[in-house]
Amino acid sequence: MGLDSYRAKRNFAESPEPAGKARRSPSGRKPRLFCVQKHLASHLHYDLRLEHNGVLLSWAVPKGPSLDPATRRLAMHVEDHPVEYGEFEGVIPSGYGAGIVMLWDRGTWTPEGDIDAGLEKGDLKFTLDGYKLKGSWVLVRTKGRWAGAPTDGRSWLLIKHRDHWSSGELDIAAFAPLSVKGGGDFVDILSADTPEIWTSSRPAQGGETGALFDRIVREALARRANRAPSAGGTGTGTATRARKTAAAPPGGRRAKSR
Ligand code: MN
Repeated sequence: MGLDSYRAKRNFAESPEPAGKARRSPSGRKPRLFCVQKHLASHLHYDLRLEHNGVLLSWAVPKGPSLDPATRRLAMHVEDHPVEYGEFEGVIPSGYGAGIVMLWDRGTWTPEGDIDAGLEKGDLKFTLDGYKLKGSWVLVRTKGRWAGAPTDGRSWLLIKHRDHWSSGELDIAAFAPLSVKGGGDFVDILSADTPEIWTSSRPAQGGETGALFDRIVREALARRANRAPSAGGTGTGTATRARKTAAAPPGGRRAKSR
């Protein structure tokens, strides 16, 4: 697929996402990287990416991966992403995919069989070795037999194989919701960026996702307001408490010792 489709959808003057470079050794690089990005955009979803031939093969999984072998998760095959995208976490202010991207899991993956043959056949078996996702998985193309799925060949199912890392009980998305990059949540990522961009309009309005954006933007703005008087501070607990105390009395600044 290459990166033409990826680049055509994005304006890199507006988005912090990597444009991507051509790789020196496009195939056979080992270990192969994988990542899952939790992406709050028009809808919350999880993007599974597997490195192959110098790009990241990508599937958008609306409900996220499940460790339960009895649970099949719809996975929409989307455009290849640059390998650099595997490290990306941040805020996409506008345009395609506008929202917040959290690096939710990362590690290496090993194909169980030939990758190209598996993609062609619509049956890709592989092992993941991440912080959260491990063990054997399969992506199976649905041929539109899955209720509600589009019939354009893009819909696959992500299924956990039964092994040491499967579980019928543990909801991994709820159990381990945070970033593997900085350990933060969406509020942390947005407040480290520019939450003001979404004061008036947001990537999602109304409904469940709109409510989620409302809360995250509100909390990120509040955190920046608290932090504003000394944005370059040390950030230690003591310093934070001292700043809050200093800001508390109405009218007049307190002398600060330096
Ligand atoms: Mn996405």
